[in-house]
Amino acid sequence: MTVSSTLALHGGSPVRTEMLPYGRQSIREEDIQAVTEVLSSAWLTTGPKVSEFEKSLSNFVGASYGVAVNSGTAALQSAAYALELKAGDEVLVPTITFLASASVFAHLGVKPVFIDVEEDTLLIDVHCLEAKITPRTRCIVTVDYAGQPCEYHSIKEISEAHNMAIIDDACHSLGASYKGQPIGSIADMTAFSFHPVKHITTGEGGMVTSNQPGFLSVLRRYRNHGMNKDHRQRTEEQSWKYTVEELGFNFRLSDIQCALGISQLNRLSKMIDRRREIALEYDKVLSEIPEVNPLCVRNGRKHVYHLYVVRLDTQALSVNRDEIFNALRAEGIGVNVHYYPLHLQKAFQRITGCRKGDCPVAERMIDEIIALPIYPDMTCSEQSDVIEALGKVINYYRR
Ligand SMILES: *Cc1c(COP(=O)(O)O)cnc(C)c1O
Repeated sequence: MTVSSTLALHGGSPVRTEMLPYGRQSIREEDIQAVTEVLSSAWLTTGPKVSEFEKSLSNFVGASYGVAVNSGTAALQSAAYALELKAGDEVLVPTITFLASASVFAHLGVKPVFIDVEEDTLLIDVHCLEAKITPRTRCIVTVDYAGQPCEYHSIKEISEAHNMAIIDDACHSLGASYKGQPIGSIADMTAFSFHPVKHITTGEGGMVTSNQPGFLSVLRRYRNHGMNKDHRQRTEEQSWKYTVEELGFNFRLSDIQCALGISQLNRLSKMIDRRREIALEYDKVLSEIPEVNPLCVRNGRKHVYHLYVVRLDTQALSVNRDEIFNALRAEGIGVNVHYYPLHLQKAFQRITGCRKGDCPVAERMIDEIIALPIYPDMTCSEQSDVIEALGKVINYYRR
C-alpha cells in the first residue's frame, strides 16, 4: 500500500481530506432553469406545476393519481388521516425505520406496534405480523428499507385476511418494483419523500400515490387546511367562498419545488441506473472482504439503493461497529447508521409501552450495520476511496 497504513484515527494520513457524504442531491443546469422559469411566472404555489408533477410522478409509478405535499412526513400523515384511523387504533410498523414512519400515527392518537425485521434484509419480518394483530389493528406500514421492496405477496395475504390497509413508506424506494409491479401502485397508499438524500429532490417535499379513487379528495383537502377549494380554483371561479368540514394543515408543495421535481424526474431512471452500478461494484469488491457483508437482495425485487448497507462480522474484528464507524469517518468517509430501533426510543416507549426485548433481531443487527456512501453523482474515484478506506480499516482491525 502506498498511502500510510496508520489509521487516520491514530494520526496517520486520511484516505480523503474532504468528507465524502453518505448521500447527496444531483442538480443540473436544466433543474436550475426549470426553477427560475417558475420564478417569473404567475404562480409560485397552487399553480399548474403542482398537477404536472403529480401526473408525471404517478404515471412513473403506475398509480392513478398523486397528491404532492411538502415532505415525506406530511405524505405519511396525510395517508394515515385518509384511512380515518381513530384514537385507540393500532398500526404495525417495522422497528428499523426513520421515526416518521411511526410518529405520524402517534400524532393522530393511533398506537404504533413495532415489528421485528429479517436479519439479512432488515425488511419487516412477515412471520412476526400475526402475533401482533389485535381487533384494533387497522393497517400495516411497509418500509422498503434501503430501496428494496418488502415481501408484498405475504403482506397482502395477511392484510386481506384481517381487513387491514397497507401504507407503504416508500421514502427509500421510488423507482423500485416487486415482481414487476412498481412501488407506488402496490399498497393502498404510498408515501414518497423528496428530501435531498432521496432519489429525486424538491428541497423538501413528498407525495402520496394511490389507485383508490376514494382517498383523492380527502388528501387534497387535508393539505390545504380542510378547505374544499384552493386559491387557484377560487381565482378561476371569481369567488371568495370555501367551506371547511374537517380541519387540515398547510402541507402544500410550491410550484417552485414541483418544477424542480419534474426536471429531476426526467433523470430518475438514469440516476437509479447509476446507483445500481455503484452497488454492483461494492458487491463485487466486498465479496473479497469476508468481514463485510452486504444485505441480501431477494428474487423478484428491483432494488434502487437509496442506501448501501453492510453488516460487519464483529466476531472477526477486534473492535465494535462504532469504532469502525469512527475510523472510517476519520479517513474522510461519511458512513452512517440507519436506524436505531424505534421500540428502544424513549418517546415511543412512553406512548406505546414497548421495551427492550420486543424485537431481538433488530436489537442485534443495530450493532452490526453501517451504510457506505452512495448517490448518483459519486465518481468512480470517490468510490475507490471508500473501498480503499474500508480495506485499510478492516485490515487493521481483523483478528
Ligand atoms: C426520509 C424518510 C421519511 C421522511 O421524509 P421527509 O421528507 O424527510 O419528511 C420517512 N420515512 C423514511 C423511511 C424516510 O427515509
